[in-house]
Amino acid sequence: MDELRNKILESAEVLPGGVLKVDSFLNHQIDVKLVDKMAKEWYERFKEEKITKILTIESAGIALSTMVATYFGVPVVYAKKSRNASFGNDYYSTHVISYTHGQAYDVYISKKVLDKNDRVLLVDDFLANGSAMKILIHLAEASGAKVAGAAVAIEKSYLGGGKDIRSIGYRLESLVKIKELGHGKIIFED
Ligand code: 5GP
Repeated sequence: MDELRNKILESAEVLPGGVLKVDSFLNHQIDVKLVDKMAKEWYERFKEEKITKILTIESAGIALSTMVATYFGVPVVYAKKSRNASFGNDYYSTHVISYTHGQAYDVYISKKVLDKNDRVLLVDDFLANGSAMKILIHLAEASGAKVAGAAVAIEKSYLGGGKDIRSIGYRLESLVKIKELGHGKIIFED
């Protein structure tokens, strides 16, 4: 997607460790017009899929997901980093290791918000090694929901997470793919 690619080249910073900082338009300040175009693009790609819910992880994916959900006319569910007392024992959970911070934590989804009647579209800002997306797949499938596809803004294709997820049979659509990142250099796949 050209607009996202141009915005990355204009405004993103490459941090040590291969982390792309997109705080000026995606992760802290949000460029609403750009995110709206991204959401529309995913809607066009997945509109035949009878999506009933958008599923993401707190917190970076939430803003993106709400825009996507508006096009589909469905709710957003986000996996939470803390468990509400009201969940009781009725929740699905799994362990996560953060790509950007290296910390480990658990995420939770109440059984009340996802079940076997749902067809979910998974949404996230980045896909690197694929762990966050696999966690969403795991949580969705634990609930009995069907994963209709995964939508990612920026795929770091050099890390192979995307290849992995596609090879186990999931439809994954990313808006841009980065094949090289480092020392101020960002190289996209065609
Ligand atoms: P994965 O689990 O696929 O290895 O990493 C994806 C998760 O890590 C995403 O949820 C995203 O929030 C975070 N992430 C991965 N790479 C980057 C990056 O270069 N920049 C930012 N801001 N977040 C990233």
